[in-house]
Amino acid sequence: MYQDLTPEKIGLKEWSKQFRMVGDSEIKEFKYYNNDEWGIYLSPPATFMVYGTRQLKKLKFDNSLAALRLWGFTFNESERLFRARQSGKRIIAAMGDLGTVPVIAMAFPDCIPFYPDCTWWTPFFNESTVLLDKASELGTPEASCFVRSTLAAFHKMAYFPKPDIMFASTGASCDDYSCIMQMAEEMGYELNWLEIPFRRQHRSFHMSEEHAVTDSGFKYPKRFETYLVNEYKRVWRKMEALTGTGDLKKLNASIEKNNRVRRLVNDIKDLTQTADVAPFPALEMMVIEFGNLYGYADIDEWLDILKMIKDTVADRVEKGIGILPSDAVPLAWVTPTADPLLLNIVEDLGGRVVATEYVINQALTIIEEDIEPFQALARSFMNASLIGSTEERVRQIAGSVDSGKIAGVIITNMLGCSHCAMETRLIEEKLKNVPVLAIDVPAPLGITEQLKTRITAFIEMLR
Ligand code: SF4
Repeated sequence: MYQDLTPEKIGLKEWSKQFRMVGDSEIKEFKYYNNDEWGIYLSPPATFMVYGTRQLKKLKFDNSLAALRLWGFTFNESERLFRARQSGKRIIAAMGDLGTVPVIAMAFPDCIPFYPDCTWWTPFFNESTVLLDKASELGTPEASCFVRSTLAAFHKMAYFPKPDIMFASTGASCDDYSCIMQMAEEMGYELNWLEIPFRRQHRSFHMSEEHAVTDSGFKYPKRFETYLVNEYKRVWRKMEALTGTGDLKKLNASIEKNNRVRRLVNDIKDLTQTADVAPFPALEMMVIEFGNLYGYADIDEWLDILKMIKDTVADRVEKGIGILPSDAVPLAWVTPTADPLLLNIVEDLGGRVVATEYVINQALTIIEEDIEPFQALARSFMNASLIGSTEERVRQIAGSVDSGKIAGVIITNMLGCSHCAMETRLIEEKLKNVPVLAIDVPAPLGITEQLKTRITAFIEMLR
């Protein structure tokens, strides 16, 4: 049985060496879709570099077996989706809502939801502008979010199989991605549109209007929930028509399973963010948070990986050991970075991420299990990051500032990304009690010494 070594972050060479200590039985034990024949995914990260994930030679990873499992599993997703198609499963594209439509899709047998949106990271992991260049050729302006690489992926059809059905959320969602989805539709894909309402605050002069309250205490008109319930019921009916089945008990079971994922992730985040010494790296933690969206196309295996990560983290916390020096400067990170390398760099330069606002609050919220399931989904989605005011979005971060948990905030902007352009200054204003560094994430291979100097200076100043 593989025994974890003293925690540290290691590169590809060390992982390849360490991988020799992993036994055959362990390699065979972990498999996606529980398939013994082709479901094995535990490999040294260098394997994925050979497949094109060139940034792996620069990134550093946690040296635990749990982290190895995480990376093997997530980098294997493209293969997994094509295998799903080959083995007769249905591929469901959920787009734009980040977290709720997959809970419905998972209530149907052999249906595998995924987010084409996540192609956002591919140009960075691959250190390649192939997708971005193709997206420009297809008509997206350069000054728009890197998510335009998804349009090129739809054009090339080599990154994921053609979905059996596609759900596209628009309205109070991401404008940039809304355009990408429309362009995909013009390309010939058939999209089923859903509308997300703006979480307008319930105002006192509308007191006669029934209201509801989000987990973080914001009042909104209750009819927004009713609106979403109807939208989710339309998704359900489309899924029934696709599969010829539909059992609401399965929706309850899917909610329970997704809540198990969400609770585990909340536990891992709590352990990681409150420990004296950082027990797990920020890069892996970002991957863990985003797993809440759809369980990386095999939620059962992802659940098992999360349990192993939680055990690893808990063990390290108990022993008081971790992967960063104990005097690392505590930071909040607002908006996920398209370039994963920045998370490594901030840690290398003395920072430690102890709070995040990665625009996916809706996927982190526990879904109520004792009310009607569509209502529960709607109520959980009303906690979404990008459907309300900036003040609501950064309220938790502001709370971390007030409690002295963080010394500074890093905001990663994506050039042209609409909410970055509109929100960053507002966020700075709302967080005026704490120093803020806003970074424009450069295009692939674009991280300069100047950018590193700015981060170094920021962390030195905080220290
Ligand atoms: S980073 Fe912002 S603009 Fe880009 S896809 Fe995400 S929400 Fe949309």
